[in-house]
Amino acid sequence: MGYFRENIENLEAYVPGYQPAGNDVIKLNTNENAYGPSPKAGEALKNFSPDELRKYPQPSADKFRKIAAEVNNVGIDNIICTNGGDELLTLAFRAFTDEKRNVCWASPTYSLYDELSGIQGCSALRVTYQPDEAVQKIAEISASLSILCNPNAPTGDFITPDRISMLAARLEGLGILLIDEAYVDFAPASCAPLVKEFDNIIVLRSMSKGYGLAGLRFGYGIVSENLLEGLNKVRDSYNVNRLSVEIASAALADQNYFRKTVEKIKQQRETLRVELVKLGFEVNKSHTNFVLAQHPEAKQIYNKLFEAGIIVRYFDLDGLRDKLRITVGTNNQNNKLLDTLSTILPAL
Ligand SMILES: *Cc1c(COP(=O)(O)O)cnc(C)c1O
Repeated sequence: MGYFRENIENLEAYVPGYQPAGNDVIKLNTNENAYGPSPKAGEALKNFSPDELRKYPQPSADKFRKIAAEVNNVGIDNIICTNGGDELLTLAFRAFTDEKRNVCWASPTYSLYDELSGIQGCSALRVTYQPDEAVQKIAEISASLSILCNPNAPTGDFITPDRISMLAARLEGLGILLIDEAYVDFAPASCAPLVKEFDNIIVLRSMSKGYGLAGLRFGYGIVSENLLEGLNKVRDSYNVNRLSVEIASAALADQNYFRKTVEKIKQQRETLRVELVKLGFEVNKSHTNFVLAQHPEAKQIYNKLFEAGIIVRYFDLDGLRDKLRITVGTNNQNNKLLDTLSTILPAL
């Protein structure tokens, strides 16, 4: 017997998007925000005194929770802070799944769910992601933990909160519905109001995409109030640090900057989509800060772009091998991508 638990021994490690060392490439592979965080986040960083680091943080990060409650029109006891949205997923797997309590989600979606279910050793039921059917299929399974990524990655599809509320109602009393809203900042509407209506809702939010703070590692959950105490039991008491609370709070409070940059990205997303279609890609409308572009030569295009210093995301997974996931960059970056594509494509 090896040192590791059997499910860890057998687990294939999660492969994060490539993070090159320098800044001399155009990086459109991990859906970071093209514009970066609010200047207020920079001020918070500059004004932070190193002496503060001597003390442990306030354990529940109430400074951030207050702002998040206001921004989302919920109560402070509907908010839990986490080290990136990813940590909220870890907490949910820990709290709600085991050998007897299963998890369900619709694929293709965020592949971290596979990883976390493997670590936890719970059984994972995957239904096929179709925007029209995902809700119904997840409802039929009625798992202890159901996860719906909305808008979905990497497809970019969006399901309306109305339909999701029907799923919440079906699952109430049976299991938790976790709605992964990492990309909701670029979408028409959020499921956050459902936490007031149902006792089984967890809405995941991230500061990495809409707020340009992927490097900070800060996320939060908007949760039904009755779930807070239990989730706090499985959370490290000091899971977010003093510095990140200051920076994330400043960024979240600056809704003006947030709205402006999100609006720019949404406009460029549509321009990028239209131009990619002209070049021969099939691209559906996206409700995120990336587009999923289909082309029979996707893998080859990925390699050629890489050689040209433009990094996009290619997934060697069923249903995705003829597609590239491309983060919406600045105007300048998108134009370079399109120019490079127009020289690559005729030579294939
Ligand atoms: C980015 C992302 C998250 C959370 O990311 P963090 O950087 O940990 O906040 C969660 N779900 C999906 C689908 C994502 O793309």
